[in-house]
Amino acid sequence: MDDVMIVGAGPVGLMLAGELALAGLRPIVLDKRPEPSELPKANGLAGQIVELLDHRGLLGPLSEGSGFAGPAPGFPFGQVPLRFAGHDDMPLRLLLIQQPRLERLLTERAGRLGAEIRRGHEVLGLVQDEEGVTLELSTGRARARYAVGCDGGHSTVRALTGIGFPGSTDDEVLRLGHFAWDGQGPFEEPRAEGLEPGWNRTPAGRLLLTSLRPGVLVAGVRERGAAPEGPVTPEDFRAAVRRVIGRDLPLGEPLWLSGTVAQARLADRYRAGRVFLAGDAAHLFPAGGTALNVGMTEAVNLAWKLAAVLLGRVPEGLLDTYEEERRPVAGRALAQTRAQAALERAPGEDGDALRALLAELFAHEQPLRHLAAILHGSDTRYPPGPEHPHPLVGRFVPDLRLSTAEGERRVAELMRAGRPVLLDLRGETGPASPGGGWIDVVRARCAEPPADVLLIRPDGYVAWAGTDGLAGAARAWFGAEPPAVRATPA
Ligand SMILES: Cc1cc2nc3c(=O)[nH]c(=O)nc-3n(C[C@H](O)[C@H](O)[C@H](O)COP(=O)(O)OP(=O)(O)OC[C@H]3O[C@@H](n4cnc5c(N)ncnc54)[C@H](O)[C@@H]3O)c2cc1C
Repeated sequence: MDDVMIVGAGPVGLMLAGELALAGLRPIVLDKRPEPSELPKANGLAGQIVELLDHRGLLGPLSEGSGFAGPAPGFPFGQVPLRFAGHDDMPLRLLLIQQPRLERLLTERAGRLGAEIRRGHEVLGLVQDEEGVTLELSTGRARARYAVGCDGGHSTVRALTGIGFPGSTDDEVLRLGHFAWDGQGPFEEPRAEGLEPGWNRTPAGRLLLTSLRPGVLVAGVRERGAAPEGPVTPEDFRAAVRRVIGRDLPLGEPLWLSGTVAQARLADRYRAGRVFLAGDAAHLFPAGGTALNVGMTEAVNLAWKLAAVLLGRVPEGLLDTYEEERRPVAGRALAQTRAQAALERAPGEDGDALRALLAELFAHEQPLRHLAAILHGSDTRYPPGPEHPHPLVGRFVPDLRLSTAEGERRVAELMRAGRPVLLDLRGETGPASPGGGWIDVVRARCAEPPADVLLIRPDGYVAWAGTDGLAGAARAWFGAEPPAVRATPA
């Protein structure tokens, strides 16, 4: 029997496959599509996932040719512009990358590390027993000890396990189009058409005009209504433009057209026995820029735990922490994206007054920083346990600058292998040595150590800080015996 079957080769399933393979498993990914999707969905990643990709050494390759990678200069929060430029250390990180390229690179990584991606297999049925999960496929049958549904918003796995997906469906439809654009003509300067770059509001709806890469004009039309039946045609798109701005616009040749209605939903459970959900299968957010951050971070959280259980390092109970930690994070993302959607939709002069007031508020550093932390996910603290430990426990590890025996390092560079790291900051440097079982021990100096010792989980979260209680935390999280992580410098 295989260890893990992942249903869905989108960004979340591919990230999960890569992480499981990095941990030493040989996961299998099943996708109903015969070929990878070339749909131009996400234009980028915003939030903690950018730091996690840095931890794995993937930020460099993914940034190649990217329009932008680094601290976000701004963010359109429900059409209230947030301006981070000019402030030091605003937490939100951004990586512009088109989704098909992201999926290609994640596919390559997963395959290189030993995951197997099988395309053209649709999951139609699912039965589980005490030993494993059997998937009924369009092409036969597959069995594994665990299955993970990364099969998107219409998740079959979610439906087959009876997990509820409560929430709401927007009463507006968004038609989005990419048009060939030579940089000339009316949109060289949208104002020539009496329009602003970005969103334009009329009593009948909103029109978006922007360009995220050379040669492509992005136009979007939002108005009240249901999702179009069947594919959006060029004529349908033109008619929507006419309804919203009262006239035709000379858009170029359509490259891609879509019509969607936003939803705000969160799975009522992340786990049903031996089956887990991650990504859009577990949540749909009504505003952009968040879904992949939350979904891919879920994949990193789940992967090391599944691997630790399957490799016999820790008891099965560790897997319950996946939902305990990640579902509240998705709930918070749902709340902030609902707020964005409400702000964006609020009509008329009342809506303008609300947006103007919030724009004024977010010109101040403290509320701006608070919102940046929410968008990034750096306000996340996983339940730290009953012992009221160090404030860093349960938080994402800061990217400290370290002096090690191997030279200057950042914490991110210690996390490449996806193993737990015991970072001893008490002043002794020495060669990195293998720790208890699978824990890497690194002794380093750092200008302002936040604690004597940090025990860092493979997903970058601090499992323990300080020496008191360290052995118990190592045993609980990683099944490592205390002598192996003895907090005494050699
Ligand atoms: C226009 C647009 C723009 C967006 N922009 C952004 C953005 O800028 N930033 C951002 O973070 N997010 C953005 N998103 C959202 C983002 O694209 C999704 O959150 C992301 O695709 C979710 O990834 P996933 O891996 O969970 O699911 P998906 O990408 O939906 O992948 C699911 C996979 O499962 C497969 N599958 C489904 N059912 C089965 C089955 N029964 N058997 C086998 N395989 C199955 C599908 O073929 C698919 O390959 C955007 C979305 C859209 C539509």
